[in-house]
Amino acid sequence: MLKGKSAVITGSTSGIGLGVARALAGAGSNVVLNGFGDAGEIEKLRAGIEKEFGIKALYSPADMTKPVEIVAMVKMAETTLGAVDVLVNNAGIQHVSPIEDFPVEKWDAIIAINLVSAFHTIRAAVPGMKKRKWGRIINTASAHSLVASPFKAAYVTAKHGLVGLTKTVALELATFGVTANCISPGYVWTPLVERQIPDQMKTRGLTEEQVKRDVLLAAQPTKQFVTIEQVASLALYLASDAAANITGANISIDGGWTAQ
Ligand code: NAD
Repeated sequence: MLKGKSAVITGSTSGIGLGVARALAGAGSNVVLNGFGDAGEIEKLRAGIEKEFGIKALYSPADMTKPVEIVAMVKMAETTLGAVDVLVNNAGIQHVSPIEDFPVEKWDAIIAINLVSAFHTIRAAVPGMKKRKWGRIINTASAHSLVASPFKAAYVTAKHGLVGLTKTVALELATFGVTANCISPGYVWTPLVERQIPDQMKTRGLTEEQVKRDVLLAAQPTKQFVTIEQVASLALYLASDAAANITGANISIDGGWTAQ
């Protein structure tokens, strides 16, 4: 389906991004992995994907808070693989804190990684997409792009902003064969969610089980975590030609959370 195409997936050394990278590679796309982690582990992931799917897999250590590194990652993909056909803006971090105590540096980092990095990747990748008259921009937003939760000021702000960016870009690119969409998951069981549990326990004075049941899955009518594979399948669909007329959308995959 994506044979001969190339994809850049930010924040793909773990969690949803890694799942999306594997799904795109499984459909024949070359991939550029990005994100932090142990160098040896990342090389194992990269080489494993390349071998398993018979495509080219590269790794960029670009820090999504650093515009110069972000642009260099896109250029590296274009130079080495020939194009960025699919751009997945997925890197994200979270911090949970009451607004009056919210650390300023956490606010800055979340806005930079979860929102501003997508501006820089899109800005750098769009000229090539327009020239080739084909492109897919897929942004990992969140149920928090549609509704808020207390103690997540920066995250909710960034994700709402990402939807605005996506809609604007979708309109600008509508006649160029380039689509831009958001995927908005509810709670997916990934390291990002796992890491929130101690903070939530502290902030709300709850046990681990109470946080899972009464905080995380309280909002999700299915009472199930969304799986990485379910999100990756949706991303793969949005990358396909079948999805050519889906643009500017914010697609929920949240077990009914935002239906309430
Ligand atoms: P994760 O922590 O497993 O993965 C995050 C990825 O981003 C990692 O590869 C990490 O190295 C990378 N990253 C972090 N800071 C970076 C930086 N400065 N530069 C480059 N890469 C950086 O998290 P996840 O749950 O897979 O989250 C992925 C995306 O999905 C995020 O945007 C998150 O907001 C969104 N999301 C997650 C859930 C969920 O329940 N897990 C729900 C909705 C939305």
